[in-house]
Amino acid sequence: MLILGGTGEARALAAGLVDAGLDVESSLAGRVSNPAMPLGRVRVGGFGGPHGLAAYLREQGVDVLVDATHPFAATISANAALAAARANVPLLAVRRPGWTAAAGDDWTRVPDVPAAAAAAAASPSGTVLVTTGRRDLAAYAHDAMHEYVVRTVDPPHGPTPPRMTLVLDRGPYTVDGELELMRAHGVRLLVTKDSGGALTEAKLVAARQLGVPVVVVDRPPLPAGVECVDSVGAATAWVLSRAG
Ligand code: NAP
Repeated sequence: MLILGGTGEARALAAGLVDAGLDVESSLAGRVSNPAMPLGRVRVGGFGGPHGLAAYLREQGVDVLVDATHPFAATISANAALAAARANVPLLAVRRPGWTAAAGDDWTRVPDVPAAAAAAAASPSGTVLVTTGRRDLAAYAHDAMHEYVVRTVDPPHGPTPPRMTLVLDRGPYTVDGELELMRAHGVRLLVTKDSGGALTEAKLVAARQLGVPVVVVDRPPLPAGVECVDSVGAATAWVLSRAG
């Protein structure tokens, strides 16, 4: 079986299936340096679009494909749907639930990162904490009015906000750590993707405690017709039921 990974869920799924005696290969994009490695076999790098992935599924005799990529990794999810259909391989997507606002939260939901950047640029002056990743920072590059604290795993390439403090860090994060970060930089607005999950949720708790408003980027939709579960347990059961 092949797991499209790069998430904690993908690693947990691989560990459970290796433990159950299955021949499991995980695929990583190769985007970050020093990634957490799953158990089982691992391959790294793109497939060359949906055709390349379909060919890989056929060549490797893959029986089951699981898309356990990040909820915002929309291209590989679309490729997985096309390739699975083309190669006639069953496909399951695993998506952790998104976050929901709690009492005391001041959230604005937006459809994409450019809309989040526009909301940040239009916000009252002050420091903006951006946690939407290093690839879309060009969207914030025209705002010279705000101080930006940008947190990424690896350094960004390309345009960035003109007044930027870069924080290189990798989750999981704690509420105390997030409170310290927000207080130290005087953060007045948080921008986040609706990634969901516990590993990066602490920033939302900290924002609530400090009364900091949050701009939340909604998830892209899954490709139509793809079966989806929201937990590693359900995905494990789905795979095992097909492994005979
Ligand atoms: P993406 O935009 O959906 O995919 C871009 C291209 O990267 C794909 O077309 C594919 O290249 C390659 N790719 C992506 N995931 C791959 C995988 N697991 N194995 C092999 N090739 C892969 O993806 P992304 O948003 O850059 O995310 C890349 C990886 O980082 C994913 O594995 C994802 O789970 C992880 N991740 C993403 C985020 C996020 O916010 N987007 C956050 C945490 C982790 P080809 O077309 O050549 O096959």
